[in-house]
Amino acid sequence: MSYSIAIDGPAGAGKSTIAKKIAKQLGFIYVDTGAMYRAMALHILKKGISPENAGNMSQACKDADISISYENGEQVVWLNGENVSGLIRAEEVGNMASVSSANQDVRTKLVSLQQKLAETADVVMDGRDIGTCVLPNADVKIYLTASTAVRARRRFDELAAKNQACSLEQIEQDIIERDERDMNREISPLKQAEDAVLLDSSDLTVDEVVEKIIFLVQR
Ligand code: C5P
Repeated sequence: MSYSIAIDGPAGAGKSTIAKKIAKQLGFIYVDTGAMYRAMALHILKKGISPENAGNMSQACKDADISISYENGEQVVWLNGENVSGLIRAEEVGNMASVSSANQDVRTKLVSLQQKLAETADVVMDGRDIGTCVLPNADVKIYLTASTAVRARRRFDELAAKNQACSLEQIEQDIIERDERDMNREISPLKQAEDAVLLDSSDLTVDEVVEKIIFLVQR
């Protein structure tokens, strides 16, 4: 039986940073499900579809072949044979992902891929619906959050470090809108699973959060 740790929470809460560190410490595979939704969003954008046109999204996702592989422990995301790991990080793609991820056909396709990955390996998987829907029997479930201001600041610093010009106000606005969509959509909305442990990372360092989660795993 493989072991699984599910980490859910809103954008910018630090899920991927934390999940990567835990995976490394425990020798597990890190699965970033947001990257899969981003790859699908990129596919849809490439077809010239606008975020408002939900009807076309079901059709558009049919010919998206998304897979992941690992290079030096880093997740690489493939879309129809192309390595899109860098392209999917654009804000435009993230915003489209939060719209296209509300589509049932998009979710069905990606959830099945995620469940297959967790069947074959010990995983730390992060996303929005891992504890509630993808891995309802996960061994440890975490709901990781932080204040909107802190999350916006972190995203801003991340983009600034990559020399991607952005405004803090715009990032905060995007985060608020994205949370609103993720928490209020009909299918698999972002919410804390009943058996998930709530962690607020606003005033914690990365290492403090990692330590708390490792403690839960060892317990
Ligand atoms: O986590 P990240 O910002 O990369 O995710 C991009 C978008 O993908 C989220 O805003 C969310 O709408 C969607 N997503 C999802 N379910 C997941 C992971 C991400 O709906 N498990």
